[in-house]
Amino acid sequence: MKRTVAALAGDGIGPEVMREAIKVLRAVEKAHGLRLDIQEALVGWDAIDKEGKALPDRTLALCKESDAILFGAVGLQYRDSEVPKEKRPERAASLRLRRQFGLYANLRPIKLPAELAYGSPLRPERLGDGIDLLVVRQATGGLYNTARKKTEAVLEVRGEGAPMQQVLRAVDTLSLTASEIERVAQMAFLAATLRRRKVTSVDKANILETSILWRQVVTEASRRFPDVTLEHMLVDTAAMQLVLRPDQFDVVVCEGMFGDILADEAAALVGSLGLLPSASLGARHQGQVFGLYEPAGGTAPDIAGKNVANPIAQILAAALMLRYSFGWQPAAQAIEDAVRKVLAAGYRTPDLRGPSTAGFRMVSTSEMGSAIAEAL
Ligand code: NAD
Repeated sequence: MKRTVAALAGDGIGPEVMREAIKVLRAVEKAHGLRLDIQEALVGWDAIDKEGKALPDRTLALCKESDAILFGAVGLQYRDSEVPKEKRPERAASLRLRRQFGLYANLRPIKLPAELAYGSPLRPERLGDGIDLLVVRQATGGLYNTARKKTEAVLEVRGEGAPMQQVLRAVDTLSLTASEIERVAQMAFLAATLRRRKVTSVDKANILETSILWRQVVTEASRRFPDVTLEHMLVDTAAMQLVLRPDQFDVVVCEGMFGDILADEAAALVGSLGLLPSASLGARHQGQVFGLYEPAGGTAPDIAGKNVANPIAQILAAALMLRYSFGWQPAAQAIEDAVRKVLAAGYRTPDLRGPSTAGFRMVSTSEMGSAIAEAL
């Protein structure tokens, strides 16, 4: 069956790494007899420059007609002052797409292959069997997205100068409904059935009302997945355990802010952002999960245009797309195996430079992409 992909490369290193992901998708398409229709479209500053807005109507229309979005990255801090905050690509394109397609769950797989253990800040004995975990967090609802936010200001007059406002109290609200918890829990359990079948649900049920509800709903949802083991862990314990014994985790599921922090903590254990993909998933339509797949990192303006960025995060994002949106598990696995094989053969982009380069083959963005495509 043919699947259509909207490929939105965006800014900074986006176009360089997207080119390699498409190269790898073409190779896997050939090797596995798949049919992919990949259409590229403008997003980000590139789109503002050429079409006047970060997410042009044509791009949005293409996304609506597609089965999934493969996204690069958007945003360039040095251009932030050119447009008001709400027109910047991070909000007007990235956030807008998540809202438009109801992408309520964010998945961050964090994997440290044994051959890259030197890049981890953890001592080898702490790494145990290696890091291979998946953080599933709420991308809508929760603390970051609850509408009730408030700042209370009082007017203060200082001396003879102009009056100054000083905020004395600010309020964010954490509100969760049972159905919001239920759908993200379901996503975590489904993902666990494709992995080692263990879910660690992270909350703060000794303090927060929302966490008490969270624990009840996740426990209830787990009954539909009798072959997946569920454990509950308080968020402070989880933060400690992640650095003490990361190999105990398979799938970690939590509310948005907890997940944001834990996923970045886990990512730091891997050593380079250039290795880590991310998926934002939404409702199922006709048995298919719609998703936006992208690298966990940003546009990396410091290295853009130099053919030195690591394309692996973008390539692994494409593998996630094949797995979660298209159900092409063997093809997804083949891409992940090819990445592993190329790393084992010593291919390294500059971000993966070790204590010495002995035994390594230092390569560019495009050489890394070609090596992975050839390994397929
Ligand atoms: P960043 O992730 O772009 O870069 C942080 C560091 O990681 C840099 O030193 C960069 O060189 C390195 N890095 C990132 N990806 C790499 C790769 N593939 N290979 C090698 N090194 C890599 O974060 P930042 O510098 O804070 O943000 C830059 C811009 O990206 C900002 O405008 C920000 O808003 C945007 N951003 C966008 C997204 C997105 O589109 N999803 C996500 C994060 C940040």
